[in-house]
Amino acid sequence: MASFFDGLPAVEPSALVGFAGNRIDRRSEHRSAETVAAALTDGRARVYLFRGDLVLVKAGGDPLFTGAEANGLGASCEDVMLLGWADDAPRLAATIPETTAVDEAEITLTNLRALATAGAVSPEHLGALAQGRSLANWHGRHRFCANCGAATTIAIGGYRRDCPACGTQHFPRTDPVVIMLATNGERALLGRQPQFPPGMYSCLAGFLEPGETIEAAVRRETLEESGVRIGRVRYHASQPWPFPASLMIGCHAEALSADIRRDEAELEDCRWFSRDEVKAMLAGTHAEGFTAPSPVAIANRLVRAWVEAS
Ligand SMILES: [Zn+2]
Repeated sequence: MASFFDGLPAVEPSALVGFAGNRIDRRSEHRSAETVAAALTDGRARVYLFRGDLVLVKAGGDPLFTGAEANGLGASCEDVMLLGWADDAPRLAATIPETTAVDEAEITLTNLRALATAGAVSPEHLGALAQGRSLANWHGRHRFCANCGAATTIAIGGYRRDCPACGTQHFPRTDPVVIMLATNGERALLGRQPQFPPGMYSCLAGFLEPGETIEAAVRRETLEESGVRIGRVRYHASQPWPFPASLMIGCHAEALSADIRRDEAELEDCRWFSRDEVKAMLAGTHAEGFTAPSPVAIANRLVRAWVEAS
């Protein structure tokens, strides 16, 4: 019997992007002061550690620290975040002070983007680190109540901050971004931001605005950045993007016009590429040295899915 879900890919496209390997069981309905206290006394608990925007990784690519090790590095129990459980053991995250000295012979301080690109930790840890980093970043920037200005306190394992003065509860944010590959027959539209590595072209992208659908954001951002009008929009995959707390929503978009009017403030270049050129960019064999984004990025999956659909 035909299923409503026939026709979907065998592997969910969102499972193929960087930061998608998080296996933590969040048990979000059970987060409370008691579960956090129990987690802190559980000898099997392990902690992911951050210093500012950097992640601490032990030699050999192990990012998990015991509670004692975390304490030794200055992590505070007061501000610890309970990400969830892995194999029934608590997984926590904490930030150590910027001033804490770290023995760099034993522990590497690195950023998540570099970790992802290098494949230096397992996909499972990479996904959990993305969860921890987005959360830690939010706490670092939301110490005071947006309603009354009083200092707030961490609650339910880091998934809320409470204001003792006015009672407002604040929740961590996730910022949706649309990222789209506009295509017209055998051609795809790609652009370059000035900070991209030399020769790299990628999909256009931008933040969703309040009151906007995903499809409307895809049409507006493509028009604003390139002058190209978009018709039909098809969702492809999503990706947690912890810089600091985005959700990339990847779409394919049907271009209805071809003339490019580039937004010069956003893009250094924007042009149409043939399918053969895009194949060569993915393979690293483009005659002019142009490249596609790395497989960590959802843009790579959007481009690859279009190339493979031919
Ligand atoms: Zn308040």
